[in-house]
Amino acid sequence: MKKYREQIMKPSLKYKNIIIVCDIEGSSGCGSYRASSFLNAGWARACRALTRDVAAVVRALFDAGAESVTVKDFHRTGYNLFTELIDKRARIISGYKNGNVPGMGNLADIDAALFIGMHASSGSGGHIAHTLTSRISKLSAGGDALCELQLFSAALSRSGSVPVFFSGCPVACGEAKRAIRSISVYPIERNSASFDAESWREGLARAAVKSLSAKRGTLYNPRGPFRVTMRMRDERSARRLSASWRLERRKDTIVFDAEDISGIYDRLSVWLYITPFIRKILPVGLFLYSIMGRFGILWARVYLAFDRAKR
Ligand SMILES: [Zn+2]
Repeated sequence: MKKYREQIMKPSLKYKNIIIVCDIEGSSGCGSYRASSFLNAGWARACRALTRDVAAVVRALFDAGAESVTVKDFHRTGYNLFTELIDKRARIISGYKNGNVPGMGNLADIDAALFIGMHASSGSGGHIAHTLTSRISKLSAGGDALCELQLFSAALSRSGSVPVFFSGCPVACGEAKRAIRSISVYPIERNSASFDAESWREGLARAAVKSLSAKRGTLYNPRGPFRVTMRMRDERSARRLSASWRLERRKDTIVFDAEDISGIYDRLSVWLYITPFIRKILPVGLFLYSIMGRFGILWARVYLAFDRAKR
């Protein structure tokens, strides 16, 4: 009887193995650039808010009958979540891993990807807008602007996951909808006077579950070939990048070709974040970076322990 009751109460999910990719800028606790910056007091509080957002979605997914939930923390060091506050059944990938989805690790048998806490792309005018790093001022493929959702979704197509749900500022949600029409979006408007994190979070979790209750979209990885142009914030950044990786450069713009969108992600995940030297010692580099991330989240935990009055 109990089992029967559970069955009729659970909305039926059309996707049962889910990955949540989370960033912090579009979470319920990140009102400014400072609050996204490593070892900043505002960042510690933003980590707490992001953790609560993720925890609410994870709980709602399991309550709705999800079989597996993987969470990939994708902000800065990749350590922004207080993992002990998230349902133990979820697999949380902190830091960056090598694998079939660079940065995220080896991922397979995932049906759907949800993106939460996201931001809009460089030059869009959205909240803390940037594309991968603040050094890029515009990224385009075949003349069309590219946002992170497209890059991540294309890379994640190797795990079998369909991009289904996206949350971020209204500008970011608009971009997401233009890029992938079938995606469900749930915007955050922190600056409105009536914003209440707790009720927004409940709505986020409900919307995430609802997005999985119908089959939508397909794997996303448009085929090229694409001529990619990446205009950097200044000519110096472009010159440095071009010298490190021997890339074609036209003033402040790096130009290259890619076979598909996931190929763009693969290249940029190397060129923008590491140097040729670090690439040679990548496991060591990733390990040292993870130590920095672990130290950061420990610092945030200690900071918040003494910050209780300002919850
Ligand atoms: Zn971020």
